[in-house]
Amino acid sequence: MRYSKYFIPTYREIPSEAEVVSHQLMLKAGLIRKLTAGIYTYLPAGLRAIRKVETIIREEMNRAGAIELLMPAVQPAELWQESGRWDLYGKELLRFRDRHNREACFAPTHEEVITDLVRREIRSYKQMPVNFYQIQTKFRDEIRPRFGLMRGREFIMKDAYSFDVDEEAANKSYERMYEAYTRIFTRCGLRFRAVEADTGAIGGSYSHEFMVLADTGEDQIVNCLKCQYAANLEKAEIRPLDSASATGSQGDDKPQPMEEVKTPDIRTVDQLTQFLSISPRQLIKTLIYEADGEPIGVLVRGDHEINETKLKNFLGAESVELAPPDLVEEVTGAPMGFAGPVGLKIRLLADHSIKGMKNVVTGANKSDLHLKNVNIGRDFEVDRFADLRLITPEDNCPRCGGQIAFSRGIEVGHIFKLGTKYSKPLKAFFLDERGEERPVVMGCYGIGVGRTVAAAIEQNHDEHGIIFPIPISPFEVVILPLQMHDPDVKETAEGLYTQLMKKGIDVLLDDREERPGVKFNDADLLGTPVRVTIGQKAMKEGKLEIKLRSEKTFTEVQVGDALSAVLETVQRLHDSIQ
Ligand code: ATP
Ligand code: MG
Repeated sequence: MRYSKYFIPTYREIPSEAEVVSHQLMLKAGLIRKLTAGIYTYLPAGLRAIRKVETIIREEMNRAGAIELLMPAVQPAELWQESGRWDLYGKELLRFRDRHNREACFAPTHEEVITDLVRREIRSYKQMPVNFYQIQTKFRDEIRPRFGLMRGREFIMKDAYSFDVDEEAANKSYERMYEAYTRIFTRCGLRFRAVEADTGAIGGSYSHEFMVLADTGEDQIVNCLKCQYAANLEKAEIRPLDSASATGSQGDDKPQPMEEVKTPDIRTVDQLTQFLSISPRQLIKTLIYEADGEPIGVLVRGDHEINETKLKNFLGAESVELAPPDLVEEVTGAPMGFAGPVGLKIRLLADHSIKGMKNVVTGANKSDLHLKNVNIGRDFEVDRFADLRLITPEDNCPRCGGQIAFSRGIEVGHIFKLGTKYSKPLKAFFLDERGEERPVVMGCYGIGVGRTVAAAIEQNHDEHGIIFPIPISPFEVVILPLQMHDPDVKETAEGLYTQLMKKGIDVLLDDREERPGVKFNDADLLGTPVRVTIGQKAMKEGKLEIKLRSEKTFTEVQVGDALSAVLETVQRLHDSIQ
């Protein structure tokens, strides 16, 4: 590609609307442009990166035996009513009416449509296993679209759906996708980790998220330093045993008489522990939640945080939210900040870690008052104990007891065992070997294509711009002739450009009449892994420079050796990845 005839509209300044580096650089380097909130145009160079990710995905999905098709983006409401999701999906689902006043939506995901296809076409066990995939535009009316392609409203997703005769076969399909995803993100040149993820109402451990490791990631990851265990923070389990033994209470203390203490205007754990000179481990926090309309009290130790995902799963509720102030007042009889378990007339859940606590401090359900020497069993009862809190650095690995570490990641892929969640309501049945009718067992597997490119940039950049991993870089090589008016420089650049193109290399020739500084800056910004600089000075000795975007130093080679040296460098970069 000739820069002068191509279209890479770069910015000099960092666009103020962009908060994260990948978004800033994608705008600045001329990869994307915003149309409106969460909706972007992929500019030519950005599209090249997107297409490269898609190609890797396609190759690996095909290798894993999945079959590509393409489903409609606009879908009738009836199908979503059949699965029950028309009412459940909420505002992320973009709904509209056609000229006949029929309701429809722009698909955020395709379980309904693929299950509809399968129930019509797949009737026998002989037609399975089968896995269909597509690379297609989705729409989700995200409440907070942000970070550019990272969380858009309209975005490209690869989604796949597997269909099997039973659990065991479905597990195999899942494993196959796990392996395919591992290959895909490895081939994209990313540092990533597959972590156990929340399965919501479905349960089990059959969901993994593929996280690109980056400090700016929205997700927190926990992993064991000893065994293979890794999980999304919201999923990370805590062994009840660990929780109980880790209590900060004075286990041998005899129960003391409960007493009220005045705590004027003290509402936070920090304020309270300072005021009473106690550790947060001697305190029980009482939070009032509203679960599907019902108020529920949840107890955790003062230094712990509630894991709302665990709470939601435990309750099997559609919606779980912190109760608004007026409900808290109604339930506890006191303003926010003074809730406590003693005398509370609502259902009380408690995290395992408070089981062994004695003589603790809690709210008194009275304004400006707390209680001291509160004891479970004597002063209040808990309806159910459960694992309801977030894991902390003081906890151990739930599998092996080893030390755990925390990091951040960007979820680029998600694999999920669906079971019969969709096949049952949509009646996707097949005849088994004995001629009996059974629901197909499903799995679904997504990859955010645009998010993968954004995550790659989030992970690979410096103060000058992007440092693309070579497999997904818009170009593999950029040639910078520094003085286009010098016939020697120009001819050498043109010659190398033609030869590299013949060899099938994605090469960009910066043939603009621009100052060298501009060309260097733009090359660094776009992040092309291999840069060839052709300048008057070195040319006098018949030399040019080859430099990696990821390294500070360059090597000089003779013009005659340039082609093989560049090819070798490109190959070396590719080899270092697979
Ligand atoms: P998130 O928790 O980030 O909202 P999700 O659980 O809703 O993701 P899935 O439904 O599993 O995501 O979608 C599959 C993949 O699609 C995700 O792993 C992610 O890479 C991508 N994706 C999801 N939502 C968006 C979005 N708003 N913008 C860009 N990519 C997205
Ligand atoms: Mg989402």
